[in-house]
Amino acid sequence: MEFSLVAQTLDILEKTSSKIQQAATLAALFKKTPAIDIDKVVYFILGILWPDWKGMPEIGIAEKGIQKAIAMATNTTESEVEKLYKSLGDFGAVVEKLKLGKQGKASGLMTFIKSAKEEKKRLDVETVYNTLVKIAMLQGEGSRDMKLRLLTALLMDADAKEAKYIVRFVEGRLRLGVGEATVMDGLATAFGVSRDLVERAYNIFPDLGAIAKTLAEKGGGELKNIKPTPGIPLRPMLAERGSDPVEILNKAGFPALAEFKYDGERAQIHKKGDKIWLFSRRLEEITHQYPDVVEMALKHIKASEAIVEGEIIAVDPETEEFKPFQELMHRKRKKDIHEAVKEIPVVVRLFDCLYVDGVDLTMKPLPERREYLRKIVEESDEFRIAEGAIVKDSKELEQLFLKAVDAGCEGLVVKSLGRDSVYQAGVRGWLWIKYKRDYKSELTDTVDLVVVGAFHGRGKRSGTYGALLLAAYDPDTDRFVTVCKVGTGFTDEELAQLPRKLEPYKLPNKHQRVDSDIEADVWFEPALVMEVTGAELTLSPVHTCCRGWVKPGVGISIRFPRFIRWREDKSPTEATTSKEIYEMYLRKLRKIERVEPKGEEA
Ligand code: ATP
Repeated sequence: MEFSLVAQTLDILEKTSSKIQQAATLAALFKKTPAIDIDKVVYFILGILWPDWKGMPEIGIAEKGIQKAIAMATNTTESEVEKLYKSLGDFGAVVEKLKLGKQGKASGLMTFIKSAKEEKKRLDVETVYNTLVKIAMLQGEGSRDMKLRLLTALLMDADAKEAKYIVRFVEGRLRLGVGEATVMDGLATAFGVSRDLVERAYNIFPDLGAIAKTLAEKGGGELKNIKPTPGIPLRPMLAERGSDPVEILNKAGFPALAEFKYDGERAQIHKKGDKIWLFSRRLEEITHQYPDVVEMALKHIKASEAIVEGEIIAVDPETEEFKPFQELMHRKRKKDIHEAVKEIPVVVRLFDCLYVDGVDLTMKPLPERREYLRKIVEESDEFRIAEGAIVKDSKELEQLFLKAVDAGCEGLVVKSLGRDSVYQAGVRGWLWIKYKRDYKSELTDTVDLVVVGAFHGRGKRSGTYGALLLAAYDPDTDRFVTVCKVGTGFTDEELAQLPRKLEPYKLPNKHQRVDSDIEADVWFEPALVMEVTGAELTLSPVHTCCRGWVKPGVGISIRFPRFIRWREDKSPTEATTSKEIYEMYLRKLRKIERVEPKGEEA
């Protein structure tokens, strides 16, 4: 298929902000795309060459390289390209302008003859994709020049619009405002299958390119046969929050399983023969970071093939007490992994089992999954099943909560044991409810928010940012909505590093998927997530989070927010959602309502 069709679609998508329209535009493209190209088209639209979890190399061309390739491909000087970049703020726009200029100059009969000749060698999807893959795969000495040569040749063959999107792809900034959710909508429409079916397949096999190909080649029926596969991470099941033990048990049903909520790194452990893979909560492969866990898994998992899930927790080598999450991050940053393993040992606490020797357990209720876990895991101090108990009432729940906190855990995860307690991959639902220490004191819940903008600092803070504009994620609209500005809680060092940390995400304008009434001094692509505490949730006329949900035209904001830490393990769409903020707000209101009548009585 000609690549121009993809470029034209990207152009339309860029100008459309309605999610429904975007999905319809994508569906039209997918219908036209031959099966052989559809995976490549899906990847290109998502701005990737392959799913992140494959751990394959990235394109690896820096800004300077892009500048050089544009100059060579358009017969322009690098300083001219640089000048244009300064005024347009985007290399995609620069190459488009330069190419259009060239097309404009060659006019009349010459153009006609030339374009007739060129008709035959229009760029096709396969050539573009394969060239980009070749560029990414080039590593080591001399690869930089080869990469530039390949990119230059590709840009020479491309027309203005095609070049614009190729450059943006290489820069890692397609900025279409199209996320995975919209691509799934488009695929469901194009192939006449239910959106739920596509999503279920994606949750247990997170590769939208491969899913699109299966749909195009074999139809929707085949999607039902997709099952967990060792080596391919599943999207994790997530927990809702609860703050009241009675309410929690009402939602989970009782008796329920209450387990310690360990403060470590979540890991999906995959085993196939003597091969082990570890995947993070974000589906990144982290096997190489934990050679000790690999050894434990080989020793203690008694099945030839299995996928289990658990938490990796740092422990004090002297006292064997659990250490906080930050310790693990500290270990990750160490260069010599073998030294780190000795210095900061870890243990594993398992809480789920998704697949064993050909059997897909994701649709089985929790008691059955736990039975499998018990059967295949030979427990030891370092590698065992999470501590917990079956609780019948709120009193038992409270007791276990105190025990968990006492053991250095964050609290509990309360899990439904009912017949429908399946593993809901990729879903945050009420089958799992987290009950954390900090929910006890009103309004000190922490939230994870995405940095979307910043304000220049003054006085002591000149040269860095004075405050960052933070947003929650709204999965229904696939957009980021602002909740607060945060300027406190940073150490001097963290403050000084802010500009450098945020530089790669800088944009000339507000990102398409960000809803903000506030004009930030600098805009960022929604990428970095930070954990924040707040004193209060209040109605806000300026913030767009939950706008109109409580009152028309009014949103919800967090007052007196404080930075706690970066959440590198979370992607922007895993940030706290506007729905969660709304629920927190309602909970607070309920508490106030309960207090007020008492006051009147007195
Ligand atoms: P938080 O920021 O509170 O850790 P999160 O948004 O990262 O939450 P949630 O799904 O909301 O993720 O909370 C569940 C997390 O708690 C899991 O991702 C897992 O890492 C951790 N966890 C610790 N112990 C357990 C357990 N026994 N069962 C399930 N999850 C557990």
